[in-house]
Amino acid sequence: MTLQAFRAELLSVPEDPAQGGTIRHHEDGLLVIEDGLVVAFGAHADLAPRFPDLSVERLSGLLVPGFVDTHIHYPQTDSIAAYGGQLLEWLERHIFPAEAAFADRAHADAVAAFFLDELLRNGTTSALVFATVHAQSVDALFEAALTRNMRIVSGKVLMDLGPEMLHDSVETGRAETEALISRWRGRGRLGYAVTPRFALTSSDAQLAGVGDLVAAHPEILMHTHLAENLGEIAAVADRFPTARDYLDVYDRFGLVGPRSVFAHCVHLEDRSLARMSDAGSSIAFCPTSNLFLGSGLFDLVAADRHGVKIGIGTDVGAGTSFSLLATLGEAYKVGQMRGTPLDPFRALYLATAGGARALGLADRIGGLQPGQEADFVLLDPAATPLLARRTAGASLAGRLFALQILGDDRAIARTYVAGNLAWARS
Ligand SMILES: [Zn+2]
Repeated sequence: MTLQAFRAELLSVPEDPAQGGTIRHHEDGLLVIEDGLVVAFGAHADLAPRFPDLSVERLSGLLVPGFVDTHIHYPQTDSIAAYGGQLLEWLERHIFPAEAAFADRAHADAVAAFFLDELLRNGTTSALVFATVHAQSVDALFEAALTRNMRIVSGKVLMDLGPEMLHDSVETGRAETEALISRWRGRGRLGYAVTPRFALTSSDAQLAGVGDLVAAHPEILMHTHLAENLGEIAAVADRFPTARDYLDVYDRFGLVGPRSVFAHCVHLEDRSLARMSDAGSSIAFCPTSNLFLGSGLFDLVAADRHGVKIGIGTDVGAGTSFSLLATLGEAYKVGQMRGTPLDPFRALYLATAGGARALGLADRIGGLQPGQEADFVLLDPAATPLLARRTAGASLAGRLFALQILGDDRAIARTYVAGNLAWARS
């Protein structure tokens, strides 16, 4: 039994403020942890008498739950900021060649290590991650995540219709997925997501196989892309002329359920949103990616109207930052373009507990509730001269908003994973 305690300004938004969820804020707070799990989160004055002999570490800054990135591609780390082309052209020109390099295990190991360290440097403690078509790309990521004790969910990409240098077959895709699921089941804090790239890169037979895998393994997620770009949507409609819409393509193969996470969903009709809500599926909203590729403006209000679960994704390498703070700043601007600005507390919820809920992990992470895993981040509202001026004397909402608009990795003073210091700014 190892008790730890941190005294700091605490902020957590464990339930959606748009649904009446409470904002938990303690200007002088105490976070008590035992063996990596939260024991207590509250006002120092209330909790200190309950833990009289505790040695307490004082932290200066705003302590919030670790960020949850609900959609990111680790093999695209080196392809961030690649010029030109919308989705399909960008994939051909920049991404497929970069992913082909993951046939080399040493390359995969090197990128996985950098990628996870970059997540930690940005305050991201959990993520749902695309690997590549190569099974060993998942092994590389999972081994590196195990070393860091991070809660990472990933899976081998299925793409039997992918380009020459980057495709599997129905049989190998399935066999490798089954082998990865059994190899990694129950290890560390890892989870598996069966990961068809998107409708266009898998045959009907492979998509049907994904449905079988999801049905056969009740603990895994299904992770893919949906309705990101108009050219992509037209190509999907061309190939599946009898489908009602893009979501219906996935639905026909049994891929729309409570463990399904769909990245983007920029162009969806009400029917699709209603169906996703009924099914309990989740959306990963990826604003920097949607702007970078010119994909469009996600309609958060429409998704909310249908009650669809939402998380935030950076979608690196189409996304332009590993920072969920910076990503929330772009989410705010996307909202402004639609006349519906995102509230900063709601934004924090979406990047923490909301993301956890989208990944089916709300009982484990996201809110720093007693019993949850103690993944947390110390934000520095004075990280830059400008932030320091802007946040001096500002309200909590003002500081939080300034961190989202002006902040990035520089505003992450420390990152803790399961109660252990995993990264500290020098
Ligand atoms: Zn993506």
